[in-house]
Amino acid sequence: MKEPTEKTTGKSPYWSKRVAGLEPYTPGEQPRDRRYIKLNTNENPYPPSPKVLEAIRAAAQEDLRLYPDPTCLALRSAIAARYGLPGADWVFVGNGSDEILAFAFAAFFGSRDRMERRPLLFPDITYSFYPVYADLWDIEYETVPVTEKFEIDTAHYRRPASGVVLANPNAPTGRALGKGALTELAAFHQQEQNVLLIDEAYVDFGAESMADQVQRYDNLLVVHTLSKSRSLAGLRVGYALGQPDLIEGLRRIKDSFNSYTLDRLALAGAQAAIEDREYYDAMAAKIEATRENTRRALEEAGFEVIPSAANFIFIRHPERPGAELFQALRSRGILVRHWNKPRISEYLRVSIGTDEEMESFVRICRGNT
Ligand code: PMP
Repeated sequence: MKEPTEKTTGKSPYWSKRVAGLEPYTPGEQPRDRRYIKLNTNENPYPPSPKVLEAIRAAAQEDLRLYPDPTCLALRSAIAARYGLPGADWVFVGNGSDEILAFAFAAFFGSRDRMERRPLLFPDITYSFYPVYADLWDIEYETVPVTEKFEIDTAHYRRPASGVVLANPNAPTGRALGKGALTELAAFHQQEQNVLLIDEAYVDFGAESMADQVQRYDNLLVVHTLSKSRSLAGLRVGYALGQPDLIEGLRRIKDSFNSYTLDRLALAGAQAAIEDREYYDAMAAKIEATRENTRRALEEAGFEVIPSAANFIFIRHPERPGAELFQALRSRGILVRHWNKPRISEYLRVSIGTDEEMESFVRICRGNT
């Protein structure tokens, strides 16, 4: 398929001030020019559970003419049961966790009278959508530097703020924080009456989840996605766990925007995914094993590999510039992610594919070092 040509000038007299000032997020490439081994957007290399496909097929029928359930009650109840939460009012679902993050920024970090001029805090190296949401909603924020080796010191977040957002494991580094440090931070910000949002998009690949802490901390919001460990990036479903008043905050934003963010097929597929725990636990274990094999092979080939608890690794070679390695891999049919940004321009983020895909990747890395 040919790319449509986009002939735009980057400005328009018809744009609102808000639109003119936006600097939107750039998603990873979804190429159409040839077949690649796609290790650039942290998708899962394995198919979703057969039960998910079955549920979606069963939902593809005549009643698509009817709107879906705007409260998504069956899915929210299944998620509550999965995490041992008292009920569906502890769960919010959205069109991908990106949508939930966008809603959460608006719901909890926008101007609250008391909070005038206190910044929202998140790391300098993290998911690059966070500053985009903050700018979209005019939220003041400050980034907190990670260490040279990309560690997050939660002590730096124990200060007056309007809220804190941490991805755990962090992206694009893969580094994970322990539960002890995060519960301390939740307690501190509960005193301060600030929301602590933990984005656990990659938590199922070996990090400790804060999901079981939401009953203790009324300021804690834990956000998950079905795009990674549930192999459903194409279905667009995410969920948030928190106390009913936080969930209500998200619902107020959603119902001021679009009542039906999840369609009937997504609702059916997502519920089947949540319920097929056995299939997905085995898949996550397999990806973790592939990650560790890849790490060992790369280290033997002279690469530095940041310790990862995610389905990707963040790597650097001491002699080969990141941009050059990225191009060398691309020309050999392997797509990874590279950012031309301060602190991380020598690194590549590499999603974990199948064993065969990772062997091809390592082979090319070896040949070029
Ligand atoms: N959080 C993080 C840290 C991510 O890397 C991603 C994936 N780009 C998301 C959230 C969003 O995932 P999705 O919208 O597919 O649920």
